[in-house]
Amino acid sequence: MTVSPALLETLKSIDDVKVFLKTLHDHFGDRMAIATSGQLTGEVILDLCVKAGFKPRVYTVDTKRLFPETLALFDAVEKKYGIKIERYYPDPAELKTLVEENGEYLFFDSKEKQELCCRVRKVLPNERVLRTLDVWVTGLTADQSASRQKMPRAEIIERVEDGKKRSLLKVSPLVDWPESKVREYANANGVPVNPLMNREFPGGWRYESLGCVICTTPIGPFESRRAGRWRWLNQDASKECGLHLPPPTHG
Ligand code: SF4
Repeated sequence: MTVSPALLETLKSIDDVKVFLKTLHDHFGDRMAIATSGQLTGEVILDLCVKAGFKPRVYTVDTKRLFPETLALFDAVEKKYGIKIERYYPDPAELKTLVEENGEYLFFDSKEKQELCCRVRKVLPNERVLRTLDVWVTGLTADQSASRQKMPRAEIIERVEDGKKRSLLKVSPLVDWPESKVREYANANGVPVNPLMNREFPGGWRYESLGCVICTTPIGPFESRRAGRWRWLNQDASKECGLHLPPPTHG
């Protein structure tokens, strides 16, 4: 199947996005799945799919450090849409080794240790899902961070799995949706929302990006949206966990 540039450029309306998702699903079926981290965009994409007439695979990587509110949101989403969200967890042996060698709170030590923790708890479980997919649908948007501003709506990722090369289509259907549009859609369509995303703290502090409990703090009125992630690290450092960095060249 070819995803033509013309199709991608015409995704101007909400109905266009629905047609795009349905076209992908018609072709790839269960080789396509939406990734959700319990924020807002994954659930909006799911709602668009359901309104387009199909129920896609949806998955999450449960790092075992997620907010209780995030886990409750997954339950609410399953109930509302009549689906089962696939949960992928860190490998117990890899987790045990990680903690034994580096301690439970290694991510406070350095950017490298944070990336190591994210790799074991998030990236490697996500890799296991990607092996089952031809289309990886993400809720990434350009306004989430400076490093995501030039992100394409669709890209082919060349992977190597078990020594064999193959292509994976990574799609971010809401890439050009500002946060206000995502929220407007969620409110207008009764999409379950993580209560943390609506919580206001004194001084206008709020959550705009959610990850593991200990690594996530609210942001102030003038901070960038991912400033609350790994706050103890240099604010100029990459605020990525590794899921959306270039893929490994070995399988
Ligand atoms: S966000 Fe923090 S606890 Fe979660 S995987 Fe990354 S470093 Fe580890």
